[in-house]
Amino acid sequence: MGDMGTVLVTGGAGYIGSHTCKALSAAGYTPVTYDNLIFGHSEAAQWGPLEIGDIADRQRLDEVISQHQPTAILHFAAFAYVGESVADPGKYYRNNVAGSLNLLEAARDNQINRFVFSSTCATYGIPQTLPITEDEPQKPINPYGHSKLMVEQMLADFGTAHDIGWIALRYFNAAGADPDNQIGEDHDPETHLIPLVLDAASGRRDSITVFGSDYDTPDGTCIRDYIHVSDLAEAHVLALQHLEAGSESGAYNLGNGTGYSVRDVISVAEKVTGLKVPVIEGGRRPGDPARLISDASQAHDMLGWQPKICDLEEIVGTAWAWHQRQSATNKESAIV
Ligand code: UDP
Repeated sequence: MGDMGTVLVTGGAGYIGSHTCKALSAAGYTPVTYDNLIFGHSEAAQWGPLEIGDIADRQRLDEVISQHQPTAILHFAAFAYVGESVADPGKYYRNNVAGSLNLLEAARDNQINRFVFSSTCATYGIPQTLPITEDEPQKPINPYGHSKLMVEQMLADFGTAHDIGWIALRYFNAAGADPDNQIGEDHDPETHLIPLVLDAASGRRDSITVFGSDYDTPDGTCIRDYIHVSDLAEAHVLALQHLEAGSESGAYNLGNGTGYSVRDVISVAEKVTGLKVPVIEGGRRPGDPARLISDASQAHDMLGWQPKICDLEEIVGTAWAWHQRQSATNKESAIV
């Protein structure tokens, strides 16, 4: 067991959760991954025990908690497809909201009084002011964003009533892969821009469709703030340490503070891979704000967080290394 104690990581076999387990382990913690493996990958749980279970299953949660005695919960487990949340909101409110409530009650009843939550810039909806600070009004424009905002509210209320210290981390666009190439992004279906662009570069997909080129931005395509997944992971360790030091609960934006357009991402991917990316000009995707750029100075000032892999070329480079490793692995398994 790591010297710093054990933490329960729901969704620890997923993209951001697994990178956070690696960072926790490096900081001396023992991460216990709790994952139903619907979207998570068992091979991503490399830095501590994997306990298969669903956040909706209170009996299983209690069993795992009593076995491992975690002193904190880092809660990543959630559904995260915006379009699906519009088509099937019940699925999102049940898993993301009711599931989180179940987990919070388990924390309360087992005297676990530190809780770090995966939130999102989708809780802001269409921002009035750029860059976006934590004071921006939270007005989600889809059920996914609503589900995450509801959990933030539950955290605040449980925090007050039951003396649970909490931190909600509002991610901008998570991107890239572990620089050691042990883990990376592996969604099925994949909907995120960078892995799709790399698929188009390598020929795994025919092309990438640009969702709208008529936005009020310099090149007409949407602007996002891409933040490296290992930098996100590090922020969770700092958030946990902040709570352990007895500091205040709160919500923090996590982003680089720099915006890149869809076309910027495509041209950087062509440079990194040395390959041509076939592009199709498509229509706008409903619910996409033109620009999302973070002001993450609170995370810097209060948590001491400083992202390290800020350059888009470097971010895409880590994603490309992972993409190539995946292609090699898939070839091997195809041969077997
Ligand atoms: N995007 C795109 N084509 C795609 C996927 C995404 O043009 O096939 C755009 C999308 O409209 C957005 C940006 O890329 O402006 C990032 O989208 P992603 O789904 O990666 O993250 P989101 O911003 O939705 O969290």
